[in-house]
Amino acid sequence: MTQQSQAEKYEFQSEIRQLLNILVYSLYKHKDVFVRELISNAVDALNMVRFESLTREDVEDKDAELRIDIGFNESRKTLIIEDNGVGMTKEELIENLGTIAHSGTMDFLKRLVETEEKDRVDLIGKFGVGFYSSFMAAKEIHLYTRSFRKGSKAWLWKSKGAADYTIEETVKKKRGTRIELFLKKEDKEFLEKTRIQGILARYSKFVPFPVYVENERLEVMEAIWSQPKSSLQEQDYIEFYKFLENTQEEPETWLHLSSDAPVQFSAILYVPKISFEQMGLFKTEPGVDLYSRKVLIEKGSQDIMPEYLRFMQGVIDSEDIPLNISRETIQSNVKIDRIRKYVLKQLLSHLKKIKDKDREQYLRIWSHFSRNLKEGVATDPDNQGKLAPLLLFHSSKKPKDTLLDLKEYAGGMAEDQKEIYYLTGLDLESLEKDPAMEAFREKDLEVLFLDDPLDEFVVEHLREYQGKPFKRAESADIKVKAEKARDKDLQKHAEAFVEYLKVTYGGRVADVRVSERLVDSPCLLVDPSGGPSVHVERILKMAHKDYQFTRKVFEINPDNPLIGEMVRIHAAKPASPLLKELALQLLDNMLLREGVIEDIEAVVPRVQQIMLQAAKAVRTPARKKPSGAKG
Ligand code: ADP
Ligand code: MG
Repeated sequence: MTQQSQAEKYEFQSEIRQLLNILVYSLYKHKDVFVRELISNAVDALNMVRFESLTREDVEDKDAELRIDIGFNESRKTLIIEDNGVGMTKEELIENLGTIAHSGTMDFLKRLVETEEKDRVDLIGKFGVGFYSSFMAAKEIHLYTRSFRKGSKAWLWKSKGAADYTIEETVKKKRGTRIELFLKKEDKEFLEKTRIQGILARYSKFVPFPVYVENERLEVMEAIWSQPKSSLQEQDYIEFYKFLENTQEEPETWLHLSSDAPVQFSAILYVPKISFEQMGLFKTEPGVDLYSRKVLIEKGSQDIMPEYLRFMQGVIDSEDIPLNISRETIQSNVKIDRIRKYVLKQLLSHLKKIKDKDREQYLRIWSHFSRNLKEGVATDPDNQGKLAPLLLFHSSKKPKDTLLDLKEYAGGMAEDQKEIYYLTGLDLESLEKDPAMEAFREKDLEVLFLDDPLDEFVVEHLREYQGKPFKRAESADIKVKAEKARDKDLQKHAEAFVEYLKVTYGGRVADVRVSERLVDSPCLLVDPSGGPSVHVERILKMAHKDYQFTRKVFEINPDNPLIGEMVRIHAAKPASPLLKELALQLLDNMLLREGVIEDIEAVVPRVQQIMLQAAKAVRTPARKKPSGAKG
C-alpha cells in the first residue's frame, strides 16, 4: 500500500510520551477498552462526515455508506479497524495524534503521572485515554488516513508508542481512517473474531453506524432514546451510558423523557457517579449531545442545559431542530428553548424525588455535585424555587455527618421563630465553638452551619425560604439576659467599663456594649448591619489588599469570670496599665479568631507582657483582700 516516499519523523509532545510510558507498562486489566476507544473515534469521524455531507457539496465519496469495518491480517498478526469518516490531513494528524490540546486531558495526564501505580488503573478506567490506549495491546500502529475534503492526499502515520512517530505520503483510495494494530505477543487474543465480537456485543448495538467484523454485520438497535421506555431494560440504559461516555463506570441515575407536543423530542439524561471537578481536576465540559432525527448536531451542547448542569450526560433529539442549525440559532430557537425548560424542570424534580425517597443515594449525588447546584442558585434565578429544596446543610442540632434540607429545618423551627438562622465558618469545629451559638443553644434554636464558602452566596441569593428570611446568627436579635437580674453594683461598673473600652479601642470597633446574648464566653463581635460575613470579608481582603474590614460591635459578658475581674479592676484602678493590655488583647483575640486582625505585630509582645505579670503574680501571691477590690 505504501509508496516510495520519505517518512518524516516527529516527536510526541512530552505529556503524550509520559502517557505512553505509563500505558505500555501498566497492567491494565481492561485492556480491551482500546477497541471501544477506536470505535468511538470512528463514530465521531462518521458523525462529522455525515454532518459535513449535509451542509456542503465538496465531500469525497459523498454517497458512500457510512460504516465501520473490523478485520484481521493473519500473516501480519494485525487487527484492523477502519471507518470512512472525515479522515485527517497531515496537519490534522500532527495536531490530533501528536499533541493534546484539550486542557482537561492535560489535567488528567498530570494527575495520572502523579498517581501511584496501583491507583492508575482506576483513574484510566474512569477517564479513558482515547487513541493512545491502543498501545496497551499493540507494539506498533500504522494509521492510514485521507481527509473527506476533495483532492486530499493520503497519509501513513506510524508509531511504536515510544517517543516519536513518522508520517509519509501513501495511497488510499477512499476517504477515512484505517488503523492497523500490530499486536503484542501476549495480546494475540484480539486476533480472534469471537473475542472482538464479544467485546462489541453490548456496546456495538448503540453505534449509530453499521459495524462489520469480517464483513459480517453486528446486531444493531434503533436509537435507544427514541424507543418506548417499556421496551428498555435497566441494563440497556447502563450500557448506553458506558457507550456514550466510553467508561467502565455505571451512571448514578438517569431520566428518559419524551414528548410529542408542543415540541417533539426525546431525551435520555444521566447523572454520573463521579465529578472530575470535585476530584480537583478540570472544569467539566457540557455533556449532553444534541440530535436532530438521530443525526448528531452538536456534541456536548453548551446551550441545551444551563452551564451549572455541565456534569449531566446524555442525548436530546428533536425533529423540530433543523439539521443545519448554527450555535446562534440554537441559543435563540424558540423550540429548543421549550425543550430546555421542560427538560430542566423534569430533571430538578427527578433529583428532588430521589432526595425525598432515597436520601442515601441523594447524599452521593450531593457529595459530587452540590457545588453545581449551588452555582445554579446563584446563576439561575428563574429556577431558584426548584433548586432551594435540593440544598442540604449542616446544622447545630444535627450530628456532624448529617445534612438536612430547608424543609426539615423549617419543620423544626420554634413557633414564634421568624427567621432561618445561619452561621458561616471554615469548619464545623469552629462553628460549634462560636460564641454566637450560646444564645441559640440557650433558647434551643437551630442554626444552619455553612462551612462551604459558596453557602453564604447561596443564602444571599435565596434571601428567604417559604417566606422566612435567612439571618446571620451573630446579627440576629436574640436576647437571653434581658430579664436576668444582675448584681446592681456589677451592672453599674460594667457600664462604666464599657465606656472605658470605647475610649481604649478608639475607632477599631463600631460600638461596645454589655451583651444580652452571651452565656459563658467573655465577648463577641457582632454585626448588626448585616453586611458581609467575616468569611466573605477575608476573601475580599485577599483580592484587594486595602479592603477595610467592617467595624463590628464588641459585646462583653460581665458574668464571665475574666470580664467580671476586669470590671472590678476598672472600678478600683481605672488607670491600671495591665487592664489596658488585657482590654486590647481581648479585642485582638476576637479579631484573631475571625482572621481579620490588622496589627498582628502588637499581639505577641503584649501577650508576653501579660504572661510576665501572671508569672510574677505566682511568685508573689497577692495579699488577702476583700472581693471586688484591688488588682
Ligand atoms: P478524543 O476522541 O477524546 O478527542 P482520542 O485520543 O481518542 O481523543 O483521539 C484524538 C483525536 O484524533 C480525535 O479528537 C480526532 O481528531 C483524531 N482521530 C482519532 N481517530 C480518528 C478517526 N478514526 N478519524 C478521524 N480522526 C480521528
Ligand atoms: Mg476518542
